[in-house]
Amino acid sequence: MTASISPEVRALMRPAAAALEPYDPAFKPTRINLSANENTYPMPPAVRTAIDAALAATPTNRYPVALSDELRSAIAEWHGVSADRVIVGNGGDELLFNLFLAFGGPARPLVTCPPTFSVYALYAGLVDTPVTSVERDHDTYELDVDAVVEAARTANLVIVTTPNNPTGGLFPHEGIARVCEACPGIVLADEAYIEFGGEGASCEGLLDTYDNLAVLHTMSKAFQMAGVRLGYVLADPSVVAALAAVRQPYSVNVLSQAAALVGVRMRDEFAPSIARIVSERSRLAAGLDRLAPLGVRTWPSAANFLLVRLPNAAQVRARLRDECSILVRDFSSTPGLADCLRVTVGTPEENDEVVAAITSILSEA
Ligand code: PMP
Repeated sequence: MTASISPEVRALMRPAAAALEPYDPAFKPTRINLSANENTYPMPPAVRTAIDAALAATPTNRYPVALSDELRSAIAEWHGVSADRVIVGNGGDELLFNLFLAFGGPARPLVTCPPTFSVYALYAGLVDTPVTSVERDHDTYELDVDAVVEAARTANLVIVTTPNNPTGGLFPHEGIARVCEACPGIVLADEAYIEFGGEGASCEGLLDTYDNLAVLHTMSKAFQMAGVRLGYVLADPSVVAALAAVRQPYSVNVLSQAAALVGVRMRDEFAPSIARIVSERSRLAAGLDRLAPLGVRTWPSAANFLLVRLPNAAQVRARLRDECSILVRDFSSTPGLADCLRVTVGTPEENDEVVAAITSILSEA
């Protein structure tokens, strides 16, 4: 448990920081954890063995190579770009923070499309960045691409999240291209979940055309390394240099660099579990859609989670946790997401359990 900030300490804080509370991931140990869009599949044994060997061979007495040259080159080769177009960070979160440090601030507006990943507004607030919200439709969660393009014309930073967290849909490539053309600033495509979107889902092909586009990826989801904390951005060398200028010099530790390098080199080993998650996503959606007579609704997802609306969502989520030891994320108090929960796609057994538990709770009434 984190203590709360005392009034005396709060009075010492910068106003933008004093408006905040410590981040609460609403985590509680449970038997089944489908709350943070982690990958609940076991690590392929060959990858785990190779990571263990790499960690054992990594000295810890020296500072890391600042920009993680070896890892950076391996990522560059993977994506068919030069190494100066890649920057790694301590999770995608650090790179998002650095993006705001470099390109945000007063009079440098950000455009986002809520409901979306809450971290953008948090970081924007921390560095006093004005936010222009182009809301998604609150029934379909579809984007108004024309409105995003219009808003982009006066933005210093636009974030398009594809697939979007927590609503699950992709941002069309032609829309991203139009936003890049309209925006005088930087456009970040946050593709944290892109590997679950299928062949051709990534917009990284647009990097050749638009030098103001940056694409964020992470090893946390498809590559089962949320605990390693390794994300990367692909962008024009000059944008990469700007992100390098504001970063903490040694933010990615040697053990994370070593583990992620193995993950990148052995990336094909993860294909079976990615395919499994994609097929389980359909099965989970079908299982939940069968509960439509009980008031359950889902939306199409290209990610490793589903947004689910159901009656009394906050209460159902608490009962899933307390009576069934199943943790899912409650979004019911987020504007535009009334009665919505987000359920990460788990293993077949986990998915069956979550459907059975929701069925039994909703059937009681
Ligand atoms: N972007 C989105 C949309 C996310 O949902 C997340 C993780 N929750 C991230 C970025 C950052 O992921 P990480 O820091 O684990 O790389």
